[in-house]
Amino acid sequence: MNTQYPEINKKTNIVFFTGAGMSAESGIPTYRGSGGIWHKYNWEEYACQDAFNIDPQKVVNFHNIRREKVAACVPNSGHVTIADLQNKFENITIITQNIDGLHQLAGSKDILELHGSLWWGRCKKCNFNINLRNNFNEIKKCSKCSRWLRPNITWFGDALDVAVFQKAHNAILNSEVFISIGTSGIVHPAAEFPYLAKSNGAYCIEVNLETTRLSSIYDSTQIGSAGKILKELHHTFFDRFIK
Ligand SMILES: [Zn+2]
Repeated sequence: MNTQYPEINKKTNIVFFTGAGMSAESGIPTYRGSGGIWHKYNWEEYACQDAFNIDPQKVVNFHNIRREKVAACVPNSGHVTIADLQNKFENITIITQNIDGLHQLAGSKDILELHGSLWWGRCKKCNFNINLRNNFNEIKKCSKCSRWLRPNITWFGDALDVAVFQKAHNAILNSEVFISIGTSGIVHPAAEFPYLAKSNGAYCIEVNLETTRLSSIYDSTQIGSAGKILKELHHTFFDRFIK
């Protein structure tokens, strides 16, 4: 095991950045990549504002099927390890590209969801947001103006939430340890994140099932499942510094 790990303490600024690979271990269907949802369905019909404007019911029904599939999944040991570490260290920020809410379900707090959350509905007219986790099949329209609620996620053609992105950017810029899990680093802005962390001299660890085109930037690339590698990191890296 790598013995070059930096010294850390309970106040070290640590960022976990998670992507589709993290959720795939919980059985969440992936969107991009081989076997992903966008190989079966045309995103232009289901995952953009234009499609929603044309046929909101069709788009909402599609996402409610996604919600049912996600609701049947539970956090894996990787999510649980991160939640555990967040309780032990004071400055852990979790940034995710995932929209499934599994980090919250594992007990983590203050997640920066770059692509929004499948569990929230939003009225574009009123900017009204509502949590639909327990009643997405019943509540489909805004209680104020009766317009259809779109899932509060980043569709194709949508801009990222500026406030969330800014917080993520700042957290990475100030990070001393940056750990990327299950992300290929191809989708913007994920591709820039390790560079940003590096610019502050952060120690960067990549956890993935295979190497990526960004692997050479990282100080350590660890190949394997998120659940297994995070457990190892817990014992070999983090535990040494918990007093
Ligand atoms: Zn409304």
